[in-house]
Amino acid sequence: MSNLSAQTDTLISELDAAVEAHMDWSRRILRCAVLRSTPGDDVLEPMAHTLCRFGRWFSSNRERFDALDPQAAQRVDGVHRTMHDAIRSICTQVMNGNTGQNADLDAFELSQSELLSLLARFKTLIISQAVRHDPLTGLPLRYGLQHDFSLIQKDAQRNRNQLYLAMIDVDHFKHINDKYGHPVGDKVLHHLAEVMKQSLRGNEPLYRFGGEEFLWLLQCHSDTEAERSALRLLAAIREISIPLPDGASLTLTITLGLARVGEEEELSSAIKRADAALYEGKNAGRDRYVIAVS
Ligand code: GH3
Ligand code: MG
Ligand code: MG
Repeated sequence: MSNLSAQTDTLISELDAAVEAHMDWSRRILRCAVLRSTPGDDVLEPMAHTLCRFGRWFSSNRERFDALDPQAAQRVDGVHRTMHDAIRSICTQVMNGNTGQNADLDAFELSQSELLSLLARFKTLIISQAVRHDPLTGLPLRYGLQHDFSLIQKDAQRNRNQLYLAMIDVDHFKHINDKYGHPVGDKVLHHLAEVMKQSLRGNEPLYRFGGEEFLWLLQCHSDTEAERSALRLLAAIREISIPLPDGASLTLTITLGLARVGEEEELSSAIKRADAALYEGKNAGRDRYVIAVS
């Protein structure tokens, strides 16, 4: 299983465990009210919401939740605390021989129900994010591309930049599979994606477009700057050296078709032009970029 799927699996199991643990609170409160049995010291602590397993796990994974929906993550924090405060208050009253407060019970019921629906929402977000990403390379697949492209096209105009779209295709990749087997081919793709991610700037999204093809969006001031970026990427890929079981090491190259995107141009048209440039690059001998004339 890839790292990405393993991480998603862990997140989903922790969320499921949190839902179960927090549903169980109704039973614990009932036992405390009926039997006057202590619900446990952890519950009575003033900072119980930071001590429970979910509280600790949620704060250590907070960045991932913020990336998915920061407002909902903030809300989880709030309702989780409200829920623990209400539980503590109810159990403390009961343990002291008093009747619990109606307001506390209402707060508990409301916060428990909101917490459970927030966690269910996060579970849906995590699953839908996972299916939008390629487990082999960790790169986004092309599902969100249209949406991202429109935003980036507007962003480039605002910043007076030119947007470029590059189609990248690994050279003679079939030969790598044929010679070393599919698992080695997979390893190469994984490694290649890592090198590309490191070589590109943070605001330059890279997608696994399909098979051994990648799509890269970059903003530059001129054709010269875009061409320089393309050359840098070609050079970084040439540096790759993947050790093979027979002691040899594998090197590879890519070919890149680059299209300067028009301010009103559709994504499909830019892809078509970049593809045509890529085809030209393949015919001209590979391991190079070709820039499309607009
Ligand atoms: P060219 O330089 O013309 O692009 O040659 P090529 O061999 O790279 O092109 P071709 O389209 O003939 O072959 C692409 C190969 O990529 C065939 C396919 O089996 C392989 N491939 C696509 N996706 C994957 C994958 O996820 N893993 C592995 N191991 N191979 C893949
Ligand atoms: Mg191909
Ligand atoms: Mg290829």
